[in-house]
Amino acid sequence: MFIDSHCHLDRVKLKHFADDFSLLIDNIRENNVERMLCVAINLADYPAMLKLVEDYADIDVSVGTHPSDAAKEVVDVATLVELGSNPRVVAIGETGLDYYYGPEHKIEQQASFREHIRAANQLNKPLIIHTRDAREDTITIMREENASQCGGVMHCFTESWDMAQQALELGFYISFSGIVTFKNAEELREVARQVPDDRFLIETDSPYLAPVPHRGKPNFPGWVPHVAECLAEVRETSVEDIARLSTENYKRLFQR
Ligand SMILES: [Zn+2]
Repeated sequence: MFIDSHCHLDRVKLKHFADDFSLLIDNIRENNVERMLCVAINLADYPAMLKLVEDYADIDVSVGTHPSDAAKEVVDVATLVELGSNPRVVAIGETGLDYYYGPEHKIEQQASFREHIRAANQLNKPLIIHTRDAREDTITIMREENASQCGGVMHCFTESWDMAQQALELGFYISFSGIVTFKNAEELREVARQVPDDRFLIETDSPYLAPVPHRGKPNFPGWVPHVAECLAEVRETSVEDIARLSTENYKRLFQR
């Protein structure tokens, strides 16, 4: 059994599932996926997302504002703490820094990131961190805001082993998405080979980034086993082993 540690179920197009959300979930379960974390991208869409998954005990949720939305949606600690205190919420995010898509909004992204870390520390819930083209600032802010207190995960990790090590030192987990299966991702597979057994997660980031052999198609959590297969190959172990370890890691990190 597998756990998808990061997906956006409210963005998966239901037209392939007869416009029926419960059919989507059935299909995911048929692929041996026992649990998933539905991650918020902004607070504006959060209430609808929460309502969509409310009746499913095997779907966890997070609350937060993606760095790409940080400029148009200014968040504060009090709001995040209030929303995050719901027992359904297992993590704060996704937050972080994305200088690839938002270099003109670095200041707003950094301010938002700090608010999220402070809220996570107050709630004592882990962070879901998105980082792209912002290695130094991400680690600096994590250190300055004492992110090692709440811990969390570097989701959809695509950075260097050097950065992975710095995140690991801060107590963070490293999560691998379908990108690790891409042909040109040799350096990332090297990172995936080295992360300790008790610190990696697997995810789809659905509906984005479908893994090989479905690359380019709309992704869904039922394809997270392909990420596990890739990690098994890279780490020279069995898929069952990857499933077991990533499940244990998920349950430890998110207290589920
Ligand atoms: Zn995401």
